[in-house]
Amino acid sequence: MKRYPCFFVMLLAVFITGCDVAEKSKNDNLIITNVSVIDSRSGAVLENRDVIVFAGKIIEVRDSRGIATSGNGKEKIIDGTGKFLTPGLIDGHVHTGSMAGMSFAQGEEYGDLSKAYFVQQPKSYLYFGFTTVVDMNGSPDSFERFARGTLHPDLFHCGQALILEDGYPAVFVPRDVRRYVFPNQLYDNRKKDHTPGISADRNSVKKAVARVKDSGAICVKTFHEDGFSRSLWPVPSEDMLTEIRAESRQQNLKLLVHANSYESYQAMIKNGTDAMAHGLWNWDRFAAEDILPPELKYLLDKMINQGIAQFSTLQTMAGLTDLFDGNYLDRKALEMTLPPAYLDWLKSPKGSWYKESLIQDYPAGMSENDIRKRLENVLNRGQQTQKYFYERGGMVLFGSDTPSAPVATNIPGYNGYLELRRMAETGISLPDILKSATLNNARFFGLEKNLGTIEAGKTANMLLLSENPLQRIEAYNKIDLVILRGRVIDRENLAAR
Ligand SMILES: [Zn+2]
Repeated sequence: MKRYPCFFVMLLAVFITGCDVAEKSKNDNLIITNVSVIDSRSGAVLENRDVIVFAGKIIEVRDSRGIATSGNGKEKIIDGTGKFLTPGLIDGHVHTGSMAGMSFAQGEEYGDLSKAYFVQQPKSYLYFGFTTVVDMNGSPDSFERFARGTLHPDLFHCGQALILEDGYPAVFVPRDVRRYVFPNQLYDNRKKDHTPGISADRNSVKKAVARVKDSGAICVKTFHEDGFSRSLWPVPSEDMLTEIRAESRQQNLKLLVHANSYESYQAMIKNGTDAMAHGLWNWDRFAAEDILPPELKYLLDKMINQGIAQFSTLQTMAGLTDLFDGNYLDRKALEMTLPPAYLDWLKSPKGSWYKESLIQDYPAGMSENDIRKRLENVLNRGQQTQKYFYERGGMVLFGSDTPSAPVATNIPGYNGYLELRRMAETGISLPDILKSATLNNARFFGLEKNLGTIEAGKTANMLLLSENPLQRIEAYNKIDLVILRGRVIDRENLAAR
């Protein structure tokens, strides 16, 4: 409430005097008239509304008075007749520091391509309506790079993740350089042979969580991953998990855990977390079952009772199946979201490296079609668990995990749109999909004061759609305008070409 008097004084100055304030603020005053406002809280469509924006904030949503003007012609007026206004979308699980389709080493080798990718990346999120993203594991450099240009979503982050020494994903980096790549590795007191450069003191849970907090994070991310049900890597001890939980609470940071298997879900439900960063698609000893077994239902019920939320990140698995779709790279959306030269590289023989390495994980001679079917099975399990979790009242959060790996089929922005469609395919209602990608995420991350709904006092992050997203999920690809902190952007100005 404190800020309203200030706004009104400035508005008065704009309307009456045309003074300095008016000059500075003439582009800040925006009225969207006669629009259907989508209430992400109730799922209602509020027809014939005017939405008044000033200095990047929504100051009023009222019954329409037709074309409103202050009389001095200084405000920008958008006729919303026949259009739908939603809050900007929030993708709660992204990785702004990695590239879809290129490893870090390739990024060094093809410096111009990677540079162009990172310049376009924030605009691609906006192109598909994501006006806020939460990075679950990135570096200060990647955050700075993401927010460098004028057009970028609001960026929040979990800092650099807490990673058990010799655990996932530290194992993918040579041991002697891990301390530089993963400054928040956790010292494992069960071991004798420690990773070079880490110590019991500096790499304690307490100090690692404190570093995350100091980096400006709103959350902490850690991992419980033994090797995709193959028992390849160590996972944190129960004592360590308890300590991570306690320290993150102490620092007022949401705890998000990479967990996607029956065993990792079990461990995290026992030891406590705020959310699972992935769906439950590895069913471990129930892997032969086609239908969600009672043991998993029991586990999901426990999770719901404890108020643990879930990012299902269906696109983590769906993206892998898309590697085997020969037409994926020809989709129009990729032209809009990737620099032309980068897309050409993905289409070149070099661009298929990730798919080739994935095939190596399967028995020799297995056909691509059979690999795809296996991946689709895993995706189907993720969807079954998400459906059960949702139907029993679990807190569904929205996250696309873009890119989940350097996989060419997790394109910034577009991957989030595909995640929305997957959720619809799973059976989540359209109002609840919108809620998960707006209000649920805003509440979970403590951003509700400014984000998640179209209401007075909130940041003016909104989408003007030509179709109603409560009737058809494809409406999220019918964006006319992206409104970012009050700034009106034509969608085509965000496209890569
Ligand atoms: Zn992730």
